[in-house]
Amino acid sequence: MSKVFDLFIIGGGINGAGLARDAAGRGLSVCLADKGEIGGATSSWSTKLIHGGLRYLENYEFKLVRESLRERETIYNIAKQISKPIPFIIPYVDKIRPAWLIQMGLFLYDNLGGKTMIPKSKTLNLTKKLPNILKEKYKTGFQYYDVQIDDKKLTKLNIKSAKKYKAKILEYNKVKKAEIVENIWVVNLENGKKIKSKVLINASGPWINETLKKNIKIKSKNKIRLVKGSHLITKKLYKPDVAFTFQNTDKRIIFVIPYKEKFSLIGTTEVEVKSPENKKISEKETVYLINSVNNYLKKQISKKDIVETYSGIRPLIEDFNEASKVTRDYVFDLNTQKGLPLLNIYGGKLTTYRKLAEKALSDLSKFLPKTRKGKWTHKEKLF
Ligand SMILES: Cc1cc2nc3c(=O)[nH]c(=O)nc-3n(C[C@H](O)[C@H](O)[C@H](O)COP(=O)(O)OP(=O)(O)OC[C@H]3O[C@@H](n4cnc5c(N)ncnc54)[C@H](O)[C@@H]3O)c2cc1C
Repeated sequence: MSKVFDLFIIGGGINGAGLARDAAGRGLSVCLADKGEIGGATSSWSTKLIHGGLRYLENYEFKLVRESLRERETIYNIAKQISKPIPFIIPYVDKIRPAWLIQMGLFLYDNLGGKTMIPKSKTLNLTKKLPNILKEKYKTGFQYYDVQIDDKKLTKLNIKSAKKYKAKILEYNKVKKAEIVENIWVVNLENGKKIKSKVLINASGPWINETLKKNIKIKSKNKIRLVKGSHLITKKLYKPDVAFTFQNTDKRIIFVIPYKEKFSLIGTTEVEVKSPENKKISEKETVYLINSVNNYLKKQISKKDIVETYSGIRPLIEDFNEASKVTRDYVFDLNTQKGLPLLNIYGGKLTTYRKLAEKALSDLSKFLPKTRKGKWTHKEKLF
């Protein structure tokens, strides 16, 4: 009889990769398949921040921010070679957010996550500390730190670690069908192979409901909203190694972040789309990002300065709020309606992938054999 895996994971983005690593390291037998390159989808189209998400405080998402700040510490610790803390500066604009509100937010941001190696926030005289970068009217700024990471490498390092613990990883191999045959999940792959597993995990990111409907033939309980976020890459716009958090009059924020020595990364937008495949920046988004930068920087940019663009799709759980207010937290849908466990993973952030994996394994523990270890991924470095 062919091997029966403990877990089969559909999708090798950061969530699938983190889960494969955690489970394999606990001694479970794991198989993961991705229809494309590992980490080649949403997990390489992010803003590349391991962050608490300062702006989520405005939506009272204290639990998410606390967990994310703790994870910022842990992930920086286990992946220092691909991450670094960088200062972010919010130029003060009294008409958008009062100083006391930003300072209160930063106080919470400094303290919600507990003890940290990341420097605390402070108020800056921009005219003295960063002359000639911003327009004269921006005299005061608020500085805080977050961690920049190579998102695709983070995913690949998780897969490398999973492989070390004997996980089977299949790239460029779409899951065509998954069904229960004689009380076991049988997964049909594009290359014609069939793989058996006790538990099925759907970590297919923005394709989650498509995978459920077309490949597993189960109707989703959760409605999702697909929200496109786009970035511009330009030649480096200024020398100092600092990022800016620009507040727009629509209350959204835009980051300008030093990127790969010679470039600046500008993002992101939020535009609702119908399909997970539709991910090119539009003319309107390009103009929005350029205008946001030109409202603040002395150096004015235009389309001619754009070196590259990329967009990704956030699969957000529908809660009928405007896009910027929909939660970035993950939601699990553990489905046993066909008699065997199927875990669907909705939403989430790069930052919380490790916690997500721990929580998933805890929720699935009653369906899995006893493992040799408990939680371990916070301690072992990724390399
Ligand atoms: C614009 C933008 C900016 C963001 N910025 C940040 C940030 O700065 N910090 C942060 O913490 N988070 C950020 N996020 C969120 C973060 O990027 C995502 O939460 C995370 O990458 C999602 O990972 P995932 O594994 O769920 O999805 P994905 O990375 O999309 O992985 C899903 C995988 O499933 C595969 N797949 C789909 N269907 C099948 C199938 N039938 N068979 C096999 N494989 C299949 C796909 O090929 C894909 O590789 C951002 C998101 C966006 C869109």
